[in-house]
Amino acid sequence: MTARRPLALGNWKMNGDMVANEQLMSGLLESSALLMTGGAIQAGFAVPAPYLFQAAVRLKGTGFLWGAQDCSDQANGAYTGEISTAMLQDFEAGFCLIGHSERRARHHETDQQIGAKLQAVLSANIMPVLCVGESLAQRESGQASQVVCAQVLAALTGLKAEDLVRVAVAYEPIWAIGTGKTASAADAQAMHAAIRQALSQLDAKAAGQMRILYGGSVKAANSAELFAQPDVDGGLVGGASLDVKEMAGILQAAHARAASLGLVQQNS
Ligand code: PEP
Repeated sequence: MTARRPLALGNWKMNGDMVANEQLMSGLLESSALLMTGGAIQAGFAVPAPYLFQAAVRLKGTGFLWGAQDCSDQANGAYTGEISTAMLQDFEAGFCLIGHSERRARHHETDQQIGAKLQAVLSANIMPVLCVGESLAQRESGQASQVVCAQVLAALTGLKAEDLVRVAVAYEPIWAIGTGKTASAADAQAMHAAIRQALSQLDAKAAGQMRILYGGSVKAANSAELFAQPDVDGGLVGGASLDVKEMAGILQAAHARAASLGLVQQNS
């Protein structure tokens, strides 16, 4: 089976401005350019939509991806404030987050809308990053894997294997997002294995190829242990992605995983 290339994505959320973005991107390009050569890992940032152009100009040709934090399921029309996948294509977005828990909670996004957005993103040839995760109450009542696997299956059932393999899933326990609490590496691995098992109900071969990222207070200091787990294929990083040193450390951990999988060329 081909090894899954580690993927580390930053989610800037509603942070940044032209000056801070430039500092962040140039700082990371300077510190991590070597890690990106040879293509052993994939990495990038989900930027606020007004800065897609800035990210496209700055990151083109560097190996880093830039992407969006959300998009519309509609092609165009009277949808004030929404952003279409065609607009994302205009800015050469490489990926789009779908169903982040902050959008599920604040914007009441349903599994059905999330599934429709995911289809729109796939049709635009952009990588969807499907975010799933349980609340603290659901974890404490022993429902975590049932809730998370149901979210995964609601969004992905009906997709062909060739489309499934273009999707990355991000497991982000809601209680770990922005709280400083991280799932233990063992808990993360257990949930990722449960997600992969659910994916194998859709297509066993595709399930083995799909990347499952962990998100929730990932930092340079905990990333190596998390990314050493067999089913943790990288991370979706919020707060720490706004700090060059932190993000550089996380990319280092993703590169170490790539090396352990034999994906790093001798001279890269
Ligand atoms: C996120 O919102 O995707 C996230 C994982 O945030 P943080 O890393 O800040 O917990």
